[in-house]
Amino acid sequence: YTAKRRSEDIVVYKSDFVTSTPESLSLLSELRRAVTNNELRVYLQPKVSTANHKVVAAEALVRWQHPEKGLVPPYKFVPFAEQTGFIREITKWMISALAEQWQALQQENRLFRVSVNLSTRDLLSPSFPDYVRQTLDTFDVPTSGVCLEITESAIMDDPAFAEQTLAKLSNMGFRLSIDDFGTGYSSLGYLKRLPVNELKVDQSFVFGMMDDANDRTIVQSTIDLAHNLGLDVVAEGVETAEMYQVLGELGCEEAQGYFIGKPMPIEAFLTWREQWQEEHIEA
Ligand code: C2E
Ligand code: MG
Ligand code: MG
Ligand code: MG
Repeated sequence: YTAKRRSEDIVVYKSDFVTSTPESLSLLSELRRAVTNNELRVYLQPKVSTANHKVVAAEALVRWQHPEKGLVPPYKFVPFAEQTGFIREITKWMISALAEQWQALQQENRLFRVSVNLSTRDLLSPSFPDYVRQTLDTFDVPTSGVCLEITESAIMDDPAFAEQTLAKLSNMGFRLSIDDFGTGYSSLGYLKRLPVNELKVDQSFVFGMMDDANDRTIVQSTIDLAHNLGLDVVAEGVETAEMYQVLGELGCEEAQGYFIGKPMPIEAFLTWREQWQEEHIEA
């Protein structure tokens, strides 16, 4: 196996390899059941504009409502799903689920964006871009309303192929975002060439920013770099009012984090949004 080869044979071989223990075999079959039985849930976390506090977007984060284990967080199954390739099923499920809820999420006179997290496996699947667009078309969702979040490491797995897929997605009108920026070892040379619109400053730097001068410097430099490349910046992990304030002063356009709102089921998100707008935005 080499990173350059990605025929279906290779994918099957890799997944057989990873799923050869009894535990992982049963997790895989449980995940299959989760999709068939509708056990996955979309949680939405708000993204707010630091300039006017408007709720401009939300990131979709998957949860698994397991019949015995309760609500299972993504770290317990997403890495496994990525190794086995099953993540592609989860991504497809997520995109359909969001497309169905699209109209309910929109507000008057303004496009409300949703973000979806992609994995390497999505980027390396040649049929992925057309599949996503078709699903969105069915529900009249414009590609410009959907932001795709990709980590640096997902891109650097096979940069040339990822670049092709990203170009295709960008031409279709999707907004592209680099997630957890600063934690992977991406090359700035690639960043410059990729058709991305947004950088997300990793939460580790945001957490450290209030009492570590180095973290503050990293956050400031990332914001400046992004702006010089014509990109918008989102900070994740904004947990306090002070962090929110400072990020606005540093020029970061959007903020996401527990200070603003935790990930919530869609119904709860809609209620939360009404309340936030009432409290923070004059009519
Ligand atoms: P991510 O995309 O970087 O998402 C941000 C994570 O940080 C989320 O965790 C979110 O709940 C958490 N977070 C947000 N604000 C704060 C904050 O202020 N403080 C702290 N301590 N944490 C905050 P979550 O939902 O557990 O997701 C973890 C990771 O799992 C995500 O990181 C993403 O890489 C992955 N993931 C989640 N859903 C999906 C999905 O549908 N598909 C794929 N491929 N990956 C997903
Ligand atoms: Mg993300
Ligand atoms: Mg992130
Ligand atoms: Mg992350």
